[in-house]
Amino acid sequence: MTTPNSTTPVAARLARANVLLIGVGGIGSPAALALARAGVGELGLVDPDVVEVSNLHRQPLYDETDVGRPKVEAAAERLGAVAPHVRLVIWRERFPAEAVRNALPRFAVVLDGTDTIAAKFAVNDAAVAAGVPLVHAGVLGFRAQIMTVLPGVTACYRCVFEEAPPAGDVPSCEEAGILGPTAELAGALSAAEAVRVDDGARAAYGDRLLVIDAWGGRHRSVPLARRPHCRTCASVPTLGTLGSIAS
Ligand SMILES: [Zn+2]
Repeated sequence: MTTPNSTTPVAARLARANVLLIGVGGIGSPAALALARAGVGELGLVDPDVVEVSNLHRQPLYDETDVGRPKVEAAAERLGAVAPHVRLVIWRERFPAEAVRNALPRFAVVLDGTDTIAAKFAVNDAAVAAGVPLVHAGVLGFRAQIMTVLPGVTACYRCVFEEAPPAGDVPSCEEAGILGPTAELAGALSAAEAVRVDDGARAAYGDRLLVIDAWGGRHRSVPLARRPHCRTCASVPTLGTLGSIAS
């Protein structure tokens, strides 16, 4: 099946693109919709959870009829309806499930939409080990943050945050709450970044952390650098063409 604009060069490249979304909740849900509607050819969806009523205000893939269903199944159904061209591969698993780690290297980009810090470290470490670019996004309350990891080229998540804090030190998304539009903003920006990186264009958030305060209407860009002794990426060589899309 072709997309309406599949004759244009950009659409043809998008149709060859593939993105692995780990987490199809507040960030992954709008990101998946944006990527599918943009014409991305294949999406991998990873999420162990079922749809809950409390998810509906910020997760636009789902509605009341989906409550109780596995998110990946409801997401695949919705995405297939809005973008019939897209190939979908789903895992109802919690990362780092072995099947997902084994599949990760065949994707061009990983988009991290997980909702715990421990999961974000796990996704970072696996993407760097596999040499696959990672678009990290996180939201809490009215704040969103985004950074892109080009393995062996730009700072990774562990270069910046080093270690996950002890369990309970940082409130979870469920505990702290998330403003729906903040998550949608993070999802849309990370989807755009995934398309850019997949296409070999400059990574907008390589070696910088974009922090958005949706309440104050402010944003800032924090410069980042690789840590020489980062235990995740210090020994990773620069891979392929990633250097050319870092800046
Ligand atoms: Zn690192």
